[in-house]
Amino acid sequence: MKVAFISDIHGNLEALESVLRDIEKEGVEKIHFLGDVVGYGCDPNECVKLVATHCEFKLLGNHDFAAMGLESIENFNQVAQASMTWTIEKITKKSVSFLADFEMDADFLDYHLVHASPEEPEQWHYILNAAHATAQFEHFSQSICFIGHSHIPAIFIRDREGNITQMAKSSLECSPEKRYLINVGSVGQPRDNDPRACYIIADTDSNQINYRRVDYDVKTTQAKMKKARLPDFLIERLAVGQ
Ligand code: ZN
Repeated sequence: MKVAFISDIHGNLEALESVLRDIEKEGVEKIHFLGDVVGYGCDPNECVKLVATHCEFKLLGNHDFAAMGLESIENFNQVAQASMTWTIEKITKKSVSFLADFEMDADFLDYHLVHASPEEPEQWHYILNAAHATAQFEHFSQSICFIGHSHIPAIFIRDREGNITQMAKSSLECSPEKRYLINVGSVGQPRDNDPRACYIIADTDSNQINYRRVDYDVKTTQAKMKKARLPDFLIERLAVGQ
């Protein structure tokens, strides 16, 4: 069975629609969402509706938490605060009621799913290197933990001796001898210098993990954000994937 893992949509409807078309074309049976459907982008309600409709497991990210009024935006940087203030104004009661059904983490087959870190999901830690990843393997029992949050695709591998290595790969055949912590990248705001939407398809029979990169109409998204008067920095970064 093919399963898609998508994360960090951030209100980018054009990116999400392109990813959903790619998922359909690839014959994926289930889609799981790892959090941050809103924040930064200009279509929070449309994105919440699509995720609620298409995804089986749906997780909360820090921006979703803030949009629901569950977390102060004091710790957000300036542009994140500006876009979150905008999002809180625009988000409908219906979208908030959809988000209320999203979870902090989930288990599916031999996979653990969480937005930021399995250790403390609500603390929103960033796992950016092998040193950060090391302790995390003690906090899930499954073979693979899929995460989002940093918007940077990354694979951390733990061998039987407990050594952690980080690999940059677009595809991987998982070994039953090893365990994995895998960042699926971001649909709506990639930050790895590739502006295309990013997500993962896992084949549960072959244990193959494939990153997918999907073009979308960045110019349309940018024009809509400009009209919504969202910060220029957020508009410009989409073109370069930073
Ligand atoms: Zn995010």
